[in-house]
Amino acid sequence: MKKVILTGDRPTGRLHIGHYVGSLRQRIQLQNSGEFDEIYIMIADAQALTDNAENPEKVRQNIVEVALDYLSCGIDPEKSTILIQSQIPELFELTAYYMNLVTVSRLQRNPTVKAEIQMRNFEASIPVGFLAYPVSQAADITAFKATTVPVGEDQQPMLEQTREIVRKFNSIYGETLVEPEILLPDNKACLRLPGTDGKAKMSKSLNNAIYLADSEEEVRQKVMGMFTDPNHIRVTDPGRVEGNPVFTYLDAFCRDEHFERYLPEYKNLDEMKAHYTRGGLGDVKVKKFLNAVLQEELEPIRRRRKEFERDIPYVYEILRKGTEAAREVAARTLAEVKKAMKINYF
Ligand code: ATP
Ligand code: MG
Repeated sequence: MKKVILTGDRPTGRLHIGHYVGSLRQRIQLQNSGEFDEIYIMIADAQALTDNAENPEKVRQNIVEVALDYLSCGIDPEKSTILIQSQIPELFELTAYYMNLVTVSRLQRNPTVKAEIQMRNFEASIPVGFLAYPVSQAADITAFKATTVPVGEDQQPMLEQTREIVRKFNSIYGETLVEPEILLPDNKACLRLPGTDGKAKMSKSLNNAIYLADSEEEVRQKVMGMFTDPNHIRVTDPGRVEGNPVFTYLDAFCRDEHFERYLPEYKNLDEMKAHYTRGGLGDVKVKKFLNAVLQEELEPIRRRRKEFERDIPYVYEILRKGTEAAREVAARTLAEVKKAMKINYF
């Protein structure tokens, strides 16, 4: 069987280091491993509209921002197909058929959607499209016969929903769709990177993100202003590393070689954590180290972004080509689906 990746992002803002460690970094490794036959990366603008219906301009503008983030991180259009969801109507046809295989109460039980409804104060007025977006995600995944979906932890319920739809479809209409596997980052710190404010999730909408496109100075300021252990007041005080986002970011980004370069008094992160826990290591020093580590990772991304920003028509051309190629694949799957359902009359 072919090995196929599908993953993507909502164009609701620029991508941040949470997206990077949660999904983007892994996509690039998988892309360059050569292990996969096909890789599809979707800019999910139609999904973004399910909770931004009044703000289509925001979604429209962020399509190119997300594409720039992809390209500057190393997504290679020769190896990965980047596509724009709304331009592939076959996906919405599939969604319509899958909706008959899912109950409203099943959608209401989805813990990620539940949390998102609360965050958006949608309790009394959930747009139907928003409640149903996990079904549309199932269409996206199955349209490309994806076997592997590399995403962050919050996507687990979506993958479970997709697998249920696939099983139900195949059991009613015969073996047609492929059941995908989620691929989570193996580093625990990367599953759900907290915000700079220490809140549960770094998010475009919570103003607690470090963006891939932030300038060197913006990154420095955000790092130096980060939430740490509120009880670690004097340098000599013992500090907590659990729930301390500065250390979570170090877990996600730093390697032993960074200590050699920037803080040779420690061999590795465990030694540094032990010192912090004991007392005697100040937040400023830890933050300066984190800043150096992040700058090293982000600098080349920023540089490549500047280059791609000089030729926006070229970026749109990549999106157009990718979307066209992806549409052919989705159309083939839709034809198979309709044939299996015996709704091909002519
Ligand atoms: P929105 O607030 O519009 O939903 P978002 O920041 O949640 O935006 P998405 O486009 O929904 O971003 O998610 C894109 C991918 O990034 C998904 O695979 C998701 O799991 C992952 N992701 C998002 N935020 C984080 C985070 N803080 N840590 C790890 N992974 C994340
Ligand atoms: Mg999200």
